Amino acid sequence: MDASDLLRSGLLHLSDSSMVRSTIEKAPVSRSVVQRYVPGTDVAHAVAATAELRATNRQVTIDYLGEDTLDAGQAAHTVDTYVGLLRALKAANLSQFGAAEVSVKLSAVGQALPRDGEKIALDNARRICEIAQEADTTVTLDMEDHTTTDSTLSILAELRKDFPTTGAVLQSYLHRTESDCRDLATSGSRVRLCKGAYKEPASVAYQDAEDVDLSYVRCLKILMAGDGYPMVASHDPRLIDIARALASRQGREPDSYEFQMLYGIRPEEQTRIADRGHQMRVYIPFGEEWYGYLMRRMAERPANLQFFLRSLLSKN
Ligand SMILES: Cc1cc2nc3c(=O)[nH]c(=O)nc-3n(C[C@H](O)[C@H](O)[C@H](O)COP(=O)(O)OP(=O)(O)OC[C@H]3O[C@@H](n4cnc5c(N)ncnc54)[C@H](O)[C@@H]3O)c2cc1C
Repeated sequence: MDASDLLRSGLLHLSDSSMVRSTIEKAPVSRSVVQRYVPGTDVAHAVAATAELRATNRQVTIDYLGEDTLDAGQAAHTVDTYVGLLRALKAANLSQFGAAEVSVKLSAVGQALPRDGEKIALDNARRICEIAQEADTTVTLDMEDHTTTDSTLSILAELRKDFPTTGAVLQSYLHRTESDCRDLATSGSRVRLCKGAYKEPASVAYQDAEDVDLSYVRCLKILMAGDGYPMVASHDPRLIDIARALASRQGREPDSYEFQMLYGIRPEEQTRIADRGHQMRVYIPFGEEWYGYLMRRMAERPANLQFFLRSLLSKN
C-alpha cells in the first residue's frame, strides 16, 4: 500500500466517523466549499444548476443525496423528492428528450430495509421511473458496494420490462464487470461505466489503480462493440481518449454514446468535450446528505483535499 492508498482508505474511514462529520458540517466555511461539488440542498438549487449547465450544452443527471436508509419513511421522502424534482424539471422545460435525467441509489429508496427491502426498492424505483417518463426523461440506477450488485441488476431487469431506457452502472474495479458488460451490451441498454468509488476487498475487486484502468479499457471495448448505449463516466483524460478512439473504430455516431463527469470536476474539460460535438452529461448531487459524497471525492484526489483544508483554515 503506498501513501495515496493510505490516504484514500483513511478518508473513506473518516466518511463513517460521526465526530469528524459534525465538526466539518459545523465549520462556517464548509457550505461555500461544498458548493463547488454540491450546488445546494433543495430541488430549486438542482434545477438552477441544471439550467446553467444546459446553457452550455451539457446534459445532466441529478442525484438526491442519501443512502443506506433503514427507515421506510425516509425512503418515501426520497421518492417524493425525486417526484418533485422531475415535475420541476418538466415545468422548466429542462427534461425533454432526456436532457436532464435522475440517478437513484436503491439503498436510498429501501433496498437495505431488513424486511422486503428489495421489493420496496423496486416499487419505489418504479414510481420514480413513471414520473420520469411523464417528464420525457429516464432514470439511471447508481451502483453501490459489491454486496448490492446482484440485487441492483435484478431490480434493473424488472424495471427495464416497463421502462427500457432505465440505465445501469458498472464498476471496472470489480472482477465480475467484464461479464456484466457482455450481458448488458444489448440494444437500447444504457450502461454507465465508472471505476468504482467504494472500498472493496481483494476477493472481489482489483486493488491496483492500473489494473482498474486496464479493466476499464476491456469493458469499454465490450460496450463500444455492442449494441447498447455506453456512458463513459470518468475524468481520466487517457480513458476519455481511448473511449473516443474505440467509438470511432466501431463507426459509432456521436449520439450513440456519451461522456459523463461529476459537477465541479474538470468543468472546462466538460465544456470542451461538449463544444467538440460530443454528448457530455454532468452528475449533479444535491441535498443535506453531502458529507459521505464529499469524502469519497476527497479520497479520490488529494488535490481536492488540499483545496478543502486550505479553505477551512484560511477562513476560520
Ligand atoms: C457521472 C459519474 C457517475 C458515477 N456513478 C458512480 C456509481 O454509480 N457508483 C460508483 O461506485 N461510482 C460512481 N462514480 C465514481 C467513479 O466510480 C469514480 O470514483 C470517480 O469518477 C473517479 O474516477 P475517475 O474515472 O474520474 O478517475 P480517477 O482515477 O479519480 O482520476 C484519473 C485522472 O482523472 C483526472 N482527474 C480526476 N479528478 C480530477 C480533478 N478534480 N481535476 C482535474 N483532473 C482530475 C486526473 O488526470 C486523474 O489522474 C461516478 C462517476 C461519474 C463521473
